[in-house]
Amino acid sequence: MTPIPQTMSGILIEQTGGIEVLRWKTDLPVPQLKEGEVLVRNEFIGVNYIDTYFRTGLYSAPLPFITGKEAAGTVISVHPSVSSSDSPVKEGDRVAYIGDRTYAEYTAIPAANVAPIPDGVSTSLAAASLLQGLTALTFVHEAVGLSPLKPLGVGSGPWVLVHAAAGGTGSWLVQLLTLAGAKVIGTAGGPEKVGIAKKNGAQWVIDSRAEDVVARVKEITGGKGVDVIFDGVGKATFEADLDMIARKGTLIMFGNASGAVPPVDLFKLTPKNLKLMRPSLFGYITTPEERAAYTKELFDLLLTGKINVKIHDIYPLKEVGRAHSDLEGRKTTGKLLLKV
Ligand code: NDP
Repeated sequence: MTPIPQTMSGILIEQTGGIEVLRWKTDLPVPQLKEGEVLVRNEFIGVNYIDTYFRTGLYSAPLPFITGKEAAGTVISVHPSVSSSDSPVKEGDRVAYIGDRTYAEYTAIPAANVAPIPDGVSTSLAAASLLQGLTALTFVHEAVGLSPLKPLGVGSGPWVLVHAAAGGTGSWLVQLLTLAGAKVIGTAGGPEKVGIAKKNGAQWVIDSRAEDVVARVKEITGGKGVDVIFDGVGKATFEADLDMIARKGTLIMFGNASGAVPPVDLFKLTPKNLKLMRPSLFGYITTPEERAAYTKELFDLLLTGKINVKIHDIYPLKEVGRAHSDLEGRKTTGKLLLKV
């Protein structure tokens, strides 16, 4: 058995703010396991936009805290209360998980929440895929009733617009929606990102920095507008979404990259009889059955090579500030990882 040290390195947030509040520490206590938990030695940590919301205080957590929502590594200890019927995981297994306090060398996590990584999927790919992949997969299934496993006939799928189509979550959405048979329009900021969104499979990509997105969407859809919009940009795009969505459309607001959307006057939905959603991944993987079924589908998509996950860069954990700065500065495409 690998000896477990008393202290570890990690990133501690003692007050919310800019990237300067991400403090590298080398004397954090290694978490003590509670009932039902396993201890994971993290190897790769996924960076997600939500990490910036906790850092800035847009989403609150009691101070001080270790931030981070996803990682992959090796199980090094299992609490005696964990039985093999609760979880198949044992010491030495490679696992990926979504949880809290992942910006550190070690994380304690309920055994039920860790997913063994199948042979054929690298630890870095698992860390890069779980949170954004499950978000896109559950949203495509549950919010719009489409499935990459049961594609619609060519041309018969709905018009779907994906904002930030070269980003981490956007890249998954575009690929899954294309597999499912939707007619996908992406938006992306600048020519390089436009190229990546096209490579993801979007049939049309609008450069949001150079073009009039609403006018182009109307042109592409013959004046109808799009049936579904996936919007993780938030404040900056919400009003335009209402303009370019089709009658009876579904507007899925799922993030705040440009800031949170202010409270909405419900009557804005009336002229087109719109549906407005604000889903969270966690509400779609609440039960162990949901979590297991979607995780299996995600790993199957990776193992069969149906999804390409582009890693933007792997930053040393100590340099997490640079990763946040790049993400918030719209300088990235695909997934950002931290290496422990
Ligand atoms: P991305 O990799 O998509 O990065 C964010 C992208 O948003 C940027 O690259 C940029 O792309 C675009 N963007 C547009 N305007 C701005 C702005 N003012 N500031 C910063 N970025 C902007 O990040 P993630 O994939 O991690 O997350 C995407 C969104 O999905 C986030 O809002 C996140 O919170 C949300 N999310 C929500 C989940 C949920 O459960 N509800 C789960 C997972 C993610 P471009 O330059 O091409 O416009």
